[in-house]
Amino acid sequence: MQEFIEHLKKGEFRMPTCTSCGGKAWPPSHRCPYCLSKTSLKKIGTTGILLEFTSSHIKGKEGIFGLVEMSGIKLVGSFGTGHLKEGMKVRMKECGVGSDGTAFYYFMPTKA
Ligand SMILES: [Zn+2]
Repeated sequence: MQEFIEHLKKGEFRMPTCTSCGGKAWPPSHRCPYCLSKTSLKKIGTTGILLEFTSSHIKGKEGIFGLVEMSGIKLVGSFGTGHLKEGMKVRMKECGVGSDGTAFYYFMPTKA
């Protein structure tokens, strides 16, 4: 979804939300996954819960990655700290599109 990416490039996270039933289209889509109505981008809360995490040692992808549940969706974010616990509250600090064209979401614990 191009519009979603354009916002992401500016560091803004906008959720495609159904204009009819209010459902969230995640992964981003022009159509609601529940009722097939159109979606529009809405600003949502970017505080969530860390469900699980792992560290990666793959070259070029080193870091700590976690699955975050946020405003009813789940996404994989990266973390800059190793002091993580499953179930802790985290907040999206940064998002954007990397030089290789993939989206990234950078989280940190709310109490850091
Ligand atoms: Zn809908």
